[in-house]
Amino acid sequence: MSERVFNFSAGPAALPEPVLRCAADEMLDWHGSGMSVMEMSHRGKEFIVIHAAAEAALRELLAVPQGYKVLFLQGGAIGQNAFVPMNLLRGRKSADYVDTGEWSKKSIKEAKKYAAVNVAASGEASRYMSIPKQDAWRLDADAAYVHICANETIGGVEYHWTPDTGDVPLVADMSSNILSRPVDVARFGLIYAGAQKNMGPSGLTVVIVRDDLIGEPLPITPSAFDLKQQADADSMLNTPPTYAIYIAGLVFEWLKAQGGLAGMAARNRAKAQLLYDGLDASSFYVSPVAREDRSLMNVTFKLRDETLDAAFLKGAEARGMVQLKGHRSVGGMRASIYNAVPIEAVEALAAYMKEFEASHG
Ligand code: PMP
Repeated sequence: MSERVFNFSAGPAALPEPVLRCAADEMLDWHGSGMSVMEMSHRGKEFIVIHAAAEAALRELLAVPQGYKVLFLQGGAIGQNAFVPMNLLRGRKSADYVDTGEWSKKSIKEAKKYAAVNVAASGEASRYMSIPKQDAWRLDADAAYVHICANETIGGVEYHWTPDTGDVPLVADMSSNILSRPVDVARFGLIYAGAQKNMGPSGLTVVIVRDDLIGEPLPITPSAFDLKQQADADSMLNTPPTYAIYIAGLVFEWLKAQGGLAGMAARNRAKAQLLYDGLDASSFYVSPVAREDRSLMNVTFKLRDETLDAAFLKGAEARGMVQLKGHRSVGGMRASIYNAVPIEAVEALAAYMKEFEASHG
């Protein structure tokens, strides 16, 4: 078998190796069932066990309080950009959105099809290199909800605080930082995330939603996107992404064995610090994001001399480090260091960055 690389992909992203090994072992015959999980009926007794265990583990990891539904849906976070206004407007006309970069912009654009959108704050003045402080937000007390992107995967800015939106439900796109640290779910009305960064394969979308927000969809809402219909059917109004749920369940068990989210938070802080300390100590590299808003998941940086970008990436690849190129919309570099990226990968990158600077600086 060929050696595994250090994978810094923004998503689909690295998965824990023990999870992949377990899935490989169980590929042809899951627990004596004589079938692969892929071949099981979603309503059969085996898959019901897998589904329930995944939900229970996720609830335990995030300490999801009573009164919240956990749904395993499809359509990705992009789908949620429509799903959220369709289901959460509940007779209101408008929603507040905070614009912190590429992914919030996409959410805003989609929501405008269904709602009057008030952009309550924007990071544009800082070229999206910082999160607007809450005292500058212009929230509307009549808004149906307030939407934020908890971690901007492309720009590399992350909320390290939870906004206070009073009685207006807070909705967060946590696609790229869910399960990276503990969060107080009770502060949120709805949390959504595509699985393919911190939870498993693409195809699964996790939605955690407070019960009282369920039940007043826009009449045009497709049944597959109807929160009430999906909640009533335990996410099985249609065939759920069974294999992705199974792998996510294995990832949740792996996370529990790592000390849960407190354990992950400590590891994630240490990994990010290694890179940010290196960037701060260097004049060869630039870390463009405001310090207090730096993402612990997506570390974006630039080489001061952009003509060296290609050589930097080539050298990284030769050392088994892949997917470091920044998103095409912003350029530069991006190291995505989600839960499953081991400290060894980050140490290798930090060492390579020093070496590259010494030979090209
Ligand atoms: N929001 C964020 C923060 C993301 O990082 C992504 C994917 N990179 C999306 C939304 C879109 O997710 P999906 O492709 O699963 O629809």
